[in-house]
Amino acid sequence: MSEKKLLLWFRQDLRLDDHPALHQAIQEGYSIIPIYIWSPEEEGNWPLGGASKWWLHQSLKKFSAEIKKMGSSLILRQGPALRVLEDLLKETQASGIYYHRRYEPAVIERDKKISAHFSKKGVEVKSFNGSLLFEPWEIQNRQGEPFKVFTPFYKACLSKGEILAPFLEKIPFEASLPSSLSLQELQLEPGNDWAKGIGEAWKPGSNGALTELERFLNFGMEAYLDERDRPDFLGTSRLSPHLHFGEISPRQIWHAVQQYISLSSAQGLVKHAEGYLRQLIWREFAYHLIYHFPHTPEQPLRTEFSKFPWSQDPAVLRAWQKGLTGYPIVDAGMRELWTTGWMHNRVRLIVASFLVKDLLIPWQEGAKWFWNTLVDADLANNTLGWQWTAGCGADAAPYFRIFNPVTQAEKFDPKGEYIRRWIPELSHLPIPWIFKPWEAPAQILQKAKVVLGNDYPKPIINHQKARACALAAFDKIRQK
Ligand code: FAD
Repeated sequence: MSEKKLLLWFRQDLRLDDHPALHQAIQEGYSIIPIYIWSPEEEGNWPLGGASKWWLHQSLKKFSAEIKKMGSSLILRQGPALRVLEDLLKETQASGIYYHRRYEPAVIERDKKISAHFSKKGVEVKSFNGSLLFEPWEIQNRQGEPFKVFTPFYKACLSKGEILAPFLEKIPFEASLPSSLSLQELQLEPGNDWAKGIGEAWKPGSNGALTELERFLNFGMEAYLDERDRPDFLGTSRLSPHLHFGEISPRQIWHAVQQYISLSSAQGLVKHAEGYLRQLIWREFAYHLIYHFPHTPEQPLRTEFSKFPWSQDPAVLRAWQKGLTGYPIVDAGMRELWTTGWMHNRVRLIVASFLVKDLLIPWQEGAKWFWNTLVDADLANNTLGWQWTAGCGADAAPYFRIFNPVTQAEKFDPKGEYIRRWIPELSHLPIPWIFKPWEAPAQILQKAKVVLGNDYPKPIINHQKARACALAAFDKIRQK
């Protein structure tokens, strides 16, 4: 066992494969003390939401078991990271701290302080890129500035050349370890059975991530571009929570897809795979934006939107959160979210547009609800998604493009199967009424055993009128 000991501080990178910080520590001959610090108070305005805490609990459990299998143990501690690291350095006589960078504004500030504090004391503190394909500062436009438009950002990423292959290695864990809290002591799981549906929908941990990737490559990739907008199919990779918690790295996914491309002779398949890689670059773009515009989780990137005449109506917000707006595709999405901790991307766009453009509720309220209920809640991606939909972010949907929740449902859930799955009270309504029950003739409603306003709500708002109001509100900020 090496004399040189190192604290390997795991954060949003709960995996042992393709781990640059671990790799470097091994190259430098350290023996490794694996640690995790629970310090939600250091996440600024964005401490983990309920669904993410549930995921973190399961993920830490799986990760601890993986480390145990290799003869070591993940040390869990709680409290301000600087104090905990100070304690651990004293207890273990370790001489260094290595970790992967995070990009959320409050965490960047915290990490800067930690790095400066320990570097002054002669502790070897090093941070690495373990969660992105490209660092946010590596990609710049011709003027040396950050990108605000996706397509040139995407092209700049592709022109960077080959992405390093992921690696696997044998890890020299330190034999004598400091004490650890038990996972239960972190109190991450909810005290009730709220997360039951989430538990049934997901398998957190690196193995779960690899299984999902394999499932997608074998059965989803071949039609990705055709089916990725269909919430009634399992047409996407569902890797977002695994990526957020770093149970799998984007490089691992990138290379698995490259291998898929090299084995696919049919040009049609390559098109789908490239389309999928493009989505991974959207994630990079989100991190690029949050790094260069750290105020955007709370404030619009386009400043004119700070004057937008939003409405504050808690009852309406509550109806949206509970999936009781009377618009089936919106309610199906909100119920999928509450039950499974995830929502299909197309439906995220529809429910977000409905909140900000039909109900005129500030996008920040939607972002907060997603933050608490999504298992993949990710400050960079969530901010991009909400600002994009609200029309106030980078490369955003123009404000005047307002989704019609009925035609969106007709187009992307053509048989109404997704709606029937999440709104059982409408399950006997035929097409086209399943998309707009308020227009169904009385005998159809009766046959389907639906009494509107009783079994299922009447629409909370008239979409055509709401659309006109939204456009008028938008005109106000345009004129200023
Ligand atoms: P796939 O289609 O299989 O895509 C693969 C991966 O690419 C995803 O896991 C994700 O990491 C990335 N990706 C795909 N689409 C996007 C996108 N539009 N923006 C950024 N990255 C993308 N994603 C989150 O991970 N966390 C969030 O908190 C989040 N909030 C969102 C809020 C709104 C209002 C909207 C419209 C989108 C949000 N997204 C968020 C983006 C997107 O909906 C999810 O990443 C996607 O649905 C995850 O499913 P998947 O893994 O099956 O996606």
